[in-house]
Amino acid sequence: MKIKTTLLFSFIAITISVFACNKDDGNTNSVTPPDTTNPPSTSSKQHVILVSVDGFRHDYTEMINTPNFDRIVNEGLKAENLVPVFPSKTFPNHLSLVTGLHPENHGIIMNTFYNEEGDKYSISSDAVKDAKWYQGEPIWVTAEKQNVKTATYFWPGSEAPIQGVRPSIWKPYNGNIANTTRVDTALNWLDLPEAERPQFISLYFSIVDSAGHRYGPVSDEVKNTIGHIDFLLGRLYDGIKNHDLAENIQLIIVSDHGMAQLSRDKMVFYDDYIDENEVSFNGNYSPVGTITVNDSSKKMEIYNQLKDVNPHMKVYLKEEVPAELHYSNHPFIADIITVAESGWSMTTRDFFEDRPYSFTGGTHGYDPFDGEDMHGIFIVNGSKFKKEIIPSYNTVDLYELMCSILEIEPANNDGNQEKALQILKQTTEN
Ligand SMILES: [Zn+2]
Repeated sequence: MKIKTTLLFSFIAITISVFACNKDDGNTNSVTPPDTTNPPSTSSKQHVILVSVDGFRHDYTEMINTPNFDRIVNEGLKAENLVPVFPSKTFPNHLSLVTGLHPENHGIIMNTFYNEEGDKYSISSDAVKDAKWYQGEPIWVTAEKQNVKTATYFWPGSEAPIQGVRPSIWKPYNGNIANTTRVDTALNWLDLPEAERPQFISLYFSIVDSAGHRYGPVSDEVKNTIGHIDFLLGRLYDGIKNHDLAENIQLIIVSDHGMAQLSRDKMVFYDDYIDENEVSFNGNYSPVGTITVNDSSKKMEIYNQLKDVNPHMKVYLKEEVPAELHYSNHPFIADIITVAESGWSMTTRDFFEDRPYSFTGGTHGYDPFDGEDMHGIFIVNGSKFKKEIIPSYNTVDLYELMCSILEIEPANNDGNQEKALQILKQTTEN
């Protein structure tokens, strides 16, 4: 029902806006109704299918046989590592992937944070649907503003009307929707008449992240989910290859971060160093702690009690966070930031003792430059891309890449355009 309503709505919206598109298409007779027989082979428009596999670490394809990943890589391009932004958390990174901005510039600085009025942003609340939190311009907003249709089968931020704009087709997040349904629906969108067909499509899968958190990255449960993702990508890839538009479909597969194995033997206890009643953690204890000191005159005292006291915990004043982490210039970033060494956890002694099963399994959020456990995947396949293996790709460069493929003007962003586009084949037009 929901899908039909959305499609109907987008059909109405398209029939209203079709004249705006006509100036780019010299062959279209504006008197003729939309062509539902849809001869797609005549289209020269490019399409991007962006797939996020949450928490898929860069080395997961080496843990089991992944014939479909192998096919897509062998016929495409892969980076050995996709370097996430800090913090290597889900929402900050998903917004960076689609805006090209670091969290300090797109505003989603954590999965949980507070604004200056004390309002809370949390990924498990309706705050995700409130546009006030999003300062960046996601690719679907950039595209829709330039009359390029978009569709999201889930993406963090896609439920909010950012700048008053949503994808032409979007869905409220529902983790119970079968992953095969998501793939098949995306492929069906490619069959829509050209005037309705989205040129940007996103897909999102959470199963690998969930298994990684619960069982740790090197576990049979994670291996099972890798196998399932391989199956889904094979289904998607076959659907693309068999489509009339195949030459004009560019497939981009990414993850938002990797996963580190936790251990109850790798603990840092805040209350060994500070009185926890004197601070607020704003919902974040580990692997990144976001600390506000209740009595602001004691800020430096608390900072000095934490700084350099434990080799497995880095401590920064907001203004001294290393430049490569880009985590100083936003009013919602807390006064003091703690970052655990990869694989380590920070908490209080009571919390630890009360929860004998916590601090096992896996997590993410760590400094992306502390080893490679936080690195994700970057695999692209399509007529636009070179065929090779490159060492790494940056999360903030993806936006420029997608804008270039879709031939839309990017908004201001933190990406490096030259680096972003170096994976594209040289064309005679350029
Ligand atoms: Zn994630």
